[in-house]
Amino acid sequence: MNNLTIQEILNSLQQKKFSSAELTRYYLKKSREDLDKGDSGVRPFITLLDDMAIARAEEADKRISQGETAPLLGVPLAIKDNINIEGAETTCASQILKGYISPYDAYVIKKLKDAGAVFTAKTNMDEFAMGSSNETSSYWSTRNPHDLSRIPGGSSGGSAAAVSGDFVSGAIGSDTGGSIRLPAGLCGIVGVKPTYGRVSRFGLVAYGSSLDQIGPLTKTVEDAALMLSVLSGYDKMDSTSIDVPIDNYSQGLRNSIKGKKIGVPKEYFIEGLDDDVKKTILKAIDMLKSQGCEIVDISLPRTGYAVPVYYIIATSEASSNLARFDGIRYGKRVKDEDITELFMKTRDAGFGDEVKRRIMIGTYSLSSGYYDAYYLQALKARTIIKNDFLNAFEKVDAIISPVSPTTAFKIGEKINDPIKMYLSDIFTISANLAGIPGISLPIEKNAQGLPVGVQLMGKH
Ligand code: GLN
Repeated sequence: MNNLTIQEILNSLQQKKFSSAELTRYYLKKSREDLDKGDSGVRPFITLLDDMAIARAEEADKRISQGETAPLLGVPLAIKDNINIEGAETTCASQILKGYISPYDAYVIKKLKDAGAVFTAKTNMDEFAMGSSNETSSYWSTRNPHDLSRIPGGSSGGSAAAVSGDFVSGAIGSDTGGSIRLPAGLCGIVGVKPTYGRVSRFGLVAYGSSLDQIGPLTKTVEDAALMLSVLSGYDKMDSTSIDVPIDNYSQGLRNSIKGKKIGVPKEYFIEGLDDDVKKTILKAIDMLKSQGCEIVDISLPRTGYAVPVYYIIATSEASSNLARFDGIRYGKRVKDEDITELFMKTRDAGFGDEVKRRIMIGTYSLSSGYYDAYYLQALKARTIIKNDFLNAFEKVDAIISPVSPTTAFKIGEKINDPIKMYLSDIFTISANLAGIPGISLPIEKNAQGLPVGVQLMGKH
């Protein structure tokens, strides 16, 4: 049962090589043993859903034995801990949500249940998805399975490490500024941020609502295509959900890419870009050329504004979204006779430093007197950044770029320097600002054995 892809699991279950319950127990045991190692484990999971998982796996086995089929019937998956599963704790890796049990399923969970999937665990993440390394989790820092002294990336670092370390075959993450693609790249797996509106956000704890998208993290592109077909769809519970037909992503993989034009943006090959990363991009470009693609130099002139624009818009939306965590409605409460004191003490004790920093930046950007200079200005710049992409896509079918400027860095290396940390997202956040899809693809490992990926971005 070692290192199976989703496709291999589906085949093996059909051929009765093992049952879904056996496989689920295998993953749960491996996860429990790793968790027990404490600091020397990978520890991708905050919660193991043993009973729920075994029950669903046994149900899947029954359906398989009756000859039923479904796209993910009996396949064990892990879910980022900012996505609600009915009856399970949703913590967002924050102390403020500790003890909050979701009374309902997120849209994507409903879809995955209909497809027959089994959920083994909720994955660790940066607190409220704010971070690039997993180190802002209030639980612990998940480690990179390729080198335990290094970060797995964030914020969906638990999901990426779980798949890369083979604690599960596939996982779900969320991506506001790169949180699926960055950890996928640093852990050597595939991660997809779908077009904004393609996957419903209903039941995802909101961070930056105009940027957030849910997507898959898998070992292969084929598995990602299968998962994305299941996750996609129109949902009236998400006002930004789009009602357009779902493409057959798996079928699309068999199409030739001969003659496709791939854009290489000159602004993405900046100073500070790791030599290994540069080498890998060139290798990926050669691979595309050998498949008959045409490589085109392009320019995305406003790339330099993406990080500041993102950190104004994302924090503004976050400061509003996180206002609901008041000690009354969800999770933790620090009691006080005075209601205002109760709000303040709960929020002070419940949120970590990075979350507080974001709430302060966002509140400042939205406050009267600064709104026009910061928030409104950022919205205008966002439109210009999006237009850069629309212009580029008149000339090319897809854009290739690095996922991140470096390979996985050491735990502790950037956590005390927020600006350095924010710059990890420099190649991923533009796609969120523009609403376009992006995929992170594992290409090779560097001399130290660390994975290096590339990103492809496409039209909406
Ligand atoms: N690192 C970015 C941030 O902290 C992106 C995180 C994400 O995509 N959720 O905002």
